[in-house]
Amino acid sequence: MPRHFDPQLVNDRFGDAGLYVDLVFQRRAVLFDLGDHANVSPRKLLRVGEIFVTHRHMDHFAGFDSLLRLLIGRDKVLRIFGPPGMIEAVEHKLKAYTWNLVEGYDGNLILRVTDVDETGHMSAAEFQGRSRFVRADCECPQYDEGVVIRESDFLVRAAMLDHGMPVLGFALEERMELNILRNKVESLGLAVGPWLRGVKEAVLGEAAEDAPITVAWLDDGGGRPVTLPLGLLRRDLLKAGPGRKIAYVVDCAFTPENEEKIVTLARGADILFIEATFLDADCAIAAARRHLTARQAGWLGRKAGAKRLVTLHHSPRYKGQGDLLIEEAQRAFLSG
Ligand SMILES: [Zn+2]
Repeated sequence: MPRHFDPQLVNDRFGDAGLYVDLVFQRRAVLFDLGDHANVSPRKLLRVGEIFVTHRHMDHFAGFDSLLRLLIGRDKVLRIFGPPGMIEAVEHKLKAYTWNLVEGYDGNLILRVTDVDETGHMSAAEFQGRSRFVRADCECPQYDEGVVIRESDFLVRAAMLDHGMPVLGFALEERMELNILRNKVESLGLAVGPWLRGVKEAVLGEAAEDAPITVAWLDDGGGRPVTLPLGLLRRDLLKAGPGRKIAYVVDCAFTPENEEKIVTLARGADILFIEATFLDADCAIAAARRHLTARQAGWLGRKAGAKRLVTLHHSPRYKGQGDLLIEEAQRAFLSG
């Protein structure tokens, strides 16, 4: 399991699809899909800063109201990303309630909603409690290669899949894993401490090589410099490795176009969370409903070179036989 991402399915595999990912060390979490989230404690939901909604079938979005109820009156910015129509959907949800008292609340809840289209172009709007949640369109940064958010240490990529309608698949990627070489720190006479976090942040923020970093010496410093250049610290104290990656794919048909997009999105993922809605014996039903079978899910994970496969979104017709779906997917994942 990726050390810096702690992913947990929101429900059992027959329940509404959803994935809660705690971004360990950041006091922050992201959520993929917003269906029934009664199993997630309010404390954990309050950590969520971003929600990535694959599409607006009810089992993926009906949790909006209960989350809004939890957050209302709090000082918080919540970002919601979804396929085209997301902004309008949130606007309609908010219009369903009367907000004459919301301006008087202590906290100003801000919902920043982004539509992502099939070319990766994004448009955004904001809804503030202080303004009674009246829509205000806003500027939105645009990135290449399907990236929808780019933070200093992680990014989220999206791909538009076909489920008879547009559905987004997502990948959460640590941009780079940086490890501090503690023995090197001490051999230079420096103290291990919180200042090293600043070195990592400066590297991830792509600061200049000569950017001065305030250091902590083991003794009182003895006249040594208060700062050292970032380039020197990076070279001597840090070891960089590829970042961790999680992919989340639900509700899509087994088509050549989807296959190519899923394999690209999930390539090399540490964990691929993917729907396994039907058994392969029922592949005709899966095709008609534009869902994946367990075997197809496993095969896609294998083709993407994912290290681990976790299936979800099982059809209720297999209740009591969930093991069959898991086994079928794992068999295809491990042996093709
Ligand atoms: Zn679904």
